[in-house]
Amino acid sequence: MQQAVSRHDAGMYHGIHMESTGTHCPYCALQCGMNLVPAGDRLTVVARDFPTNNGGLCRKGWTAAELLYAPDRLTTPLMRARKGEPLRPVSWSEALDRAVGGIRRIQAAHGRDAFGLFGGGGLTNEKSYMLGKFARVALRTGNIDYNGRFCMASAAAANLRAFGLDRGLPFPLDDICGAKAIMIAGSNPAETMPPIMQYFEEQRRRGGQLIVIDPRVTATARAASLHLQLTPGTDAALANGLLHVAIQQGLIDRAFIEARTTGFDAARRLSASYWPDRVERITGVPARKIIEAANILGAAETAMVLTGRGPEQQSHGVNNVLALINLVLALGKAGKPNCGYGCLTGQGNGQGGREHGQKTEQLPGYRRLDDQRHRDEIAAVWGVEASDLPWPGLSACEMFAALGRQIRGLLVVGSNILVSAPEATELSRRLEDLDLLVVADLFLSETAARADIVLPVAQWAEEEGTMTNLEGRVLLRRRIKTPPEGVWTDAQILKGLADRLGAGEHFSVDASTTFSELRRATTGAPADYAGITYERIVREDGVFWPCPSEDHPGTPRLFHERFATEDGRARFHAIEYEPPAELPDPTYPYFLTTGRVLAQYQSGTQTRRVAQLRAAEPECFVEMHPDAARSLDIASGDMVRLTTRRGRAVMKARLTPDIRRDTFFVPFHWSGPASANALTHAALDPTSRIPEFKVCAVRAEKLAVESVARGEPGEVITKH
Ligand code: SF4
Repeated sequence: MQQAVSRHDAGMYHGIHMESTGTHCPYCALQCGMNLVPAGDRLTVVARDFPTNNGGLCRKGWTAAELLYAPDRLTTPLMRARKGEPLRPVSWSEALDRAVGGIRRIQAAHGRDAFGLFGGGGLTNEKSYMLGKFARVALRTGNIDYNGRFCMASAAAANLRAFGLDRGLPFPLDDICGAKAIMIAGSNPAETMPPIMQYFEEQRRRGGQLIVIDPRVTATARAASLHLQLTPGTDAALANGLLHVAIQQGLIDRAFIEARTTGFDAARRLSASYWPDRVERITGVPARKIIEAANILGAAETAMVLTGRGPEQQSHGVNNVLALINLVLALGKAGKPNCGYGCLTGQGNGQGGREHGQKTEQLPGYRRLDDQRHRDEIAAVWGVEASDLPWPGLSACEMFAALGRQIRGLLVVGSNILVSAPEATELSRRLEDLDLLVVADLFLSETAARADIVLPVAQWAEEEGTMTNLEGRVLLRRRIKTPPEGVWTDAQILKGLADRLGAGEHFSVDASTTFSELRRATTGAPADYAGITYERIVREDGVFWPCPSEDHPGTPRLFHERFATEDGRARFHAIEYEPPAELPDPTYPYFLTTGRVLAQYQSGTQTRRVAQLRAAEPECFVEMHPDAARSLDIASGDMVRLTTRRGRAVMKARLTPDIRRDTFFVPFHWSGPASANALTHAALDPTSRIPEFKVCAVRAEKLAVESVARGEPGEVITKH
C-alpha cells in the first residue's frame, strides 16, 4: 500500500493534506487508483498500483489535477434577483433562504411532488444516499432521479430480471484474463476506459478470443478476433440468431440449463425463427460471422458476454440485454469461474449511485420504495413514519417532460442535463417554464447558467466519500486538499437546506457519519454494505458488496452457488426483436448513433476545461463513411448540418471507412450548436425508462461557408 491509512489531516502545505495522497480518478467507473502529490504549490497525479488499473491511467486521469485549479471555478453562490436578470454573487444564507422560500411556495401551491431533484452518476455513495433521503424526508417528494438513468439502467433492469441482483460485473476484472472467449456488445473500452484493455490483452495473450459487436470499427473492435458490424438497433435479433445457432449446432449446456435456470423452452421456441440468413437481413451481419461467433463462444470452456451502452441505450434496451443473457445461460457460462454476463458501467459512481436511493423507485441497498416491508425498514433507520415516505415518482425523462407543468421547481446536483439529456432543445425550452431552478455544480455549466440559484460545490479531491466501481468494489476517495474559500460540499448544502426545512436533525455534513448510517440502512438488503468501513477499504484495496459484517470477506464473485432469484435459478426470457422507435426514411435517410471519445467525459463540464484534453479533442464532429459523404457532396472538414425530428446541430465532417455506410456517429460531450443531444430521441424503454440515445433517423447537409459565418444553422441551446 502506498497511501497512508490515517484519516486525520496530518499536515498542511498550500492547503494540501500531506498524508492523504491515495485516491481515485474523478471520472469513469473503472475508478483507477492514483496518488496526488505536491509539485510546487499544486498537486499532480502519479499513477498508483491499484488492483483495477495496475498503475495505468488514461489521459483524462493523468490530467485530472488540473480541474482542481480551473480558473473559472465557482467560489460564491449566484442568484438572479428575478427571472431574466443576470446572476449575481450572494451570501450562502441569502441563496439557501431564497431556495427554501421557493420550494415552500411551490409545494404549498402545487403539492410536495411539484418539486423534483436530479442527481449525478459521479456523486459519492454518501451523497447519493443523502440526496435520496433529502427528497423523501426533507422535501417528501417522490420525484427524484439521476443521470445513471441515461446510462446503465437497462443492464440493471435485465440483471434483476435474469439473476435477481444488479451488480455491473459479478466478478472482479482479473477474471477477464482467464476467459477463453469474450463477446463485448456495444462498448468501446479502448477509448472510454483504456487501462481496462490490459485485461483483454492478457486474455488474448493466453489464447482467448475476443468478439466485438459494434456499428463502428472502434479501437476495441480492431483488437478483436471477430467483429460483428451490426445495423444500429438490431442487437436482440443478433442475440437471438446466436442462440439459434448455438441450439442448432448442439453447443448449449443442457445440464446447466436443467440445474440452474428456468424458462429455456420459451426462449428456444422463439429463437427457432432467427435462422442466420434472416438475421443477416435484419442486422447486416453476414450469416457466416454469426455462425462463427456462436461457435467461438460455444466451444470455449469459459466465456463472458459484456455489454455497454450500445444495446442498453435503446427503447428496447432491457430486451437487448436479456437476449444476450439468454445466450450466456444457454451456453452454461454463468455462475462459474471466468464466466458470466457483465455490464461495463460508464459513470464514475454509476454503480453506487443506483444502489442507495437516488432512483425514483429505490431505497438504500436496492430496497424498493413500493414495498411496504422495505419502507418500514428504512423509515426505522431514518427515524420517520413509513406512512410519511412518498411513493415512486417520475423517472428522469418523464420528469423533464413534466417541467413547467407537474414539476414547478428542480434541484440539480452534479449533473449538466442540458448536455447529457436527450432532446436538449426541448428541455432547454422547458427549463424556462420552471418557477425555480437550483443547480449545485463546480462550474457555471450550461445548466447552471440557466439556474435561478447556483451553489458552488467541492470536487473529488476536496472531500471524502466512497465510490463503487464497475466490479461492485467499494473504494474510498480521500480529502487531500481544502476546497477554495467560499465553496461548500454538497452535504453542507443539503444539510443547510434541510435545517431551513425543519428536517436538519436527520442529516450530517460528515461523510463518515453518513456512511455509518448507510451501512445500517443497507443491512440485510441486496447491496449490503454493513461490514464495509473506511479503514477496511483502505487496508484491503476496496471491499466488494455484499458484505454483511465486518468479519465477512466481501463478495468478489456472485452466483457460484445460486442466483439471487427466489428459487436460486437464473431466468431465460423469450425476446422477440422489435425495431427502434425511429427508422431511416426518405426524409431522414441515415441512422444516427451517439457516444464518447477518449479525451472527453460525459457532458464535458470537467474535461472541456482541461487544456490537454481540449487540445486533443477540441470540438464536436460527425463521423461518416466516405461513400455516404460522397453522395452528399461532403468532404472531410466540411461543416455539416444534421437534422432530426427533434432539432439541428452543426459540426465538422470526419470521414472514415470504419463506420457503416448507413450510419453517422456523433460524440455527445459538447453543447450549443454542436449538441448531439439536440438530435437524439427520448423514446423510452418501458422498463428501464432509458432514452434511445443510440438510434434515431437523421439527414445531413453540407453547409455553405457563408451560412456558417452568419451563424444560421443549429439550435443554440445555451443562453448566458
Ligand atoms: Fe481510469 Fe477512467 Fe480515470 Fe481514465 S477516466 S484514468 S480509465 S478512471
